[in-house]
Amino acid sequence: MATANTATSAESQTILDSRLIEQFEVHREFTRIFLDAFVLVNREQRVIKFNQMFCTISGLRAIDVRKAPTLNAILTTQIHNSEKSALEMILEASGPLRIDEVQATKVASGESMQLIMGSFPYFDAQGNLLGACVVLRDVTAESNLQGKYTEKSIQSVTDPLTGLYTRRYFEDFIDKELDRARAAHKDPSLGLLMFDLDKFKSINDGYGHQAGDFVLQETAKILRSVARQSDILGRYGGEEMLVLLLNATPKGACIAAEKFRVALQNHEFIFEGKRIPVTTSVGVTVFLNQAETRDVAVKRADECLYAAKHNGRNVCFADFGEGTTRVPESTLLEGAE
Ligand code: GH3
Ligand code: MG
Ligand code: MG
Repeated sequence: MATANTATSAESQTILDSRLIEQFEVHREFTRIFLDAFVLVNREQRVIKFNQMFCTISGLRAIDVRKAPTLNAILTTQIHNSEKSALEMILEASGPLRIDEVQATKVASGESMQLIMGSFPYFDAQGNLLGACVVLRDVTAESNLQGKYTEKSIQSVTDPLTGLYTRRYFEDFIDKELDRARAAHKDPSLGLLMFDLDKFKSINDGYGHQAGDFVLQETAKILRSVARQSDILGRYGGEEMLVLLLNATPKGACIAAEKFRVALQNHEFIFEGKRIPVTTSVGVTVFLNQAETRDVAVKRADECLYAAKHNGRNVCFADFGEGTTRVPESTLLEGAE
């Protein structure tokens, strides 16, 4: 009985397939000029027709494509963040569809690739789905290239040891912010903090250069963890780092500087089982007006840093255009901005 039923359903599927081929016939000549792979699949995902390019993409000979029970048995098609495969989506769609970023796997070899898929569904006179013509483009090489390009462009603006922005990027960023402020006839409201680790040479000498590198990496991590989302962090020189604060007031810049300084002072730097005491001195300033250049503000921050080094280190000094003064430790206790 079951055999008879199967035979009947296979028979009716054959009829449906011939209707599908009949409809596809209109497009048949057109597919001969396709540069991409295509398959005609029926509603049960079986491959009815395909071109040579599909053999190339799937890595199978034509005879093996014909033997496969479904397209899914040749090629799995995952979509990011979706439980459904690309093929399932195509066979559920009521019209033409294009799906970018399909992660496909060749079932025979396990090799994965990146596809763009397009589809055109066919229906019978009653509106029931017969199947779909599916176009597949292998964009693996392009997307790998894109990935490398993105990686390279990130690498070119960040310092490899600390992951902080390079001096060049940091300076460009400031200049763009200044241009923007000038164009809007507004004060830039930018705060600038310049850090220089205290007696860093003696860390290198006492614990080794690798320990020094470790301290630089940890310092960058702490700066990042204390920083606001909008703060821009750069490595300026060997053990000098800069933070640019957006929308900063002089008081806000002092609070930020003290937060960073205290976080570093309190952090336990442990390298190969040894605790390394680390502190930093900080120069603090803001861009005073639209006309002020980057060089002038950086020089002021540097002078503050110099003052901090000559006044015991592990301290912040600030200059907001009225001379250099010590940032009191009580700044943090006085509360938030
Ligand atoms: P001060 O408190 O006055 O700043 O003392 P200092 O010892 O930190 O003074 P200085 O700025 O002269 O020393 C900086 C040292 O940082 C010298 C250099 O060997 C070291 N340095 C620079 N870049 C790196 C790096 O990438 N890794 C390591 N391990 N050391 C570095
Ligand atoms: Mg230095
Ligand atoms: Mg130093």
